[in-house]
Amino acid sequence: MILSLIALSEALGLGPDPQAILRPLQQLYLELDRSLASRAAGHGLPCHEGCDACCHEAVFLSAPEVLLVMAHLLEVRTLTELEQLVAQMTTLSERFADELELLETLMPGAERDEVAARVAFRCPLLGGDGRCSIYSVRELNARTFGQSWDPHGDQAYGCGLTHQRLRVLPDQGRSLYDAREARRRLVAAVPGTERVHVYPWWFARYGALLLAAKSESSART
Ligand code: SF4
Repeated sequence: MILSLIALSEALGLGPDPQAILRPLQQLYLELDRSLASRAAGHGLPCHEGCDACCHEAVFLSAPEVLLVMAHLLEVRTLTELEQLVAQMTTLSERFADELELLETLMPGAERDEVAARVAFRCPLLGGDGRCSIYSVRELNARTFGQSWDPHGDQAYGCGLTHQRLRVLPDQGRSLYDAREARRRLVAAVPGTERVHVYPWWFARYGALLLAAKSESSART
């Protein structure tokens, strides 16, 4: 185990055993992906790997989700690539400093949605080919968005493309997996998922620890 990954886990408030967080999170993703796919089967939804329609806006994720993304990045990216990524995220964090500060305090609801809508940017994790570069470990919202149903709003949890497709189906998508149930399962299965924020906020705060972890693992090999 890389010592700095432990430091990262602790700094994120997730304790000294990253695997105790990563294991249940990956297991949950596996189960949810299966459930989402089976409930979406036959709907012909436009959401698929390679569609980046939802990757140009504020996407919220929790500390465990960040830890999994960072653990993956440690394996697949060089130190130079990680330095560039952290620099990009930090620049975005500075550009939207006022909004990100507000989002720290706002509860989910109309006001938070209005502030979040102002935080529009191309996700730095989106590859030049328009594909998510961390697809296998992408956040929960990316897994449920365009694939699930929001019973509160009585509409699909997805973008305009999803809504357009579902309008022509007899059940309008109500048989899709419940997006809020997916979030409830995450909170129940993995500790530390209550607080959420956007990628630039997380990377601006914890990117230095990610770089330290990469330096440490590079020095050992
Ligand atoms: S991490 Fe991947 S899925 Fe999530 S917003 Fe960025 S590019 Fe899109």
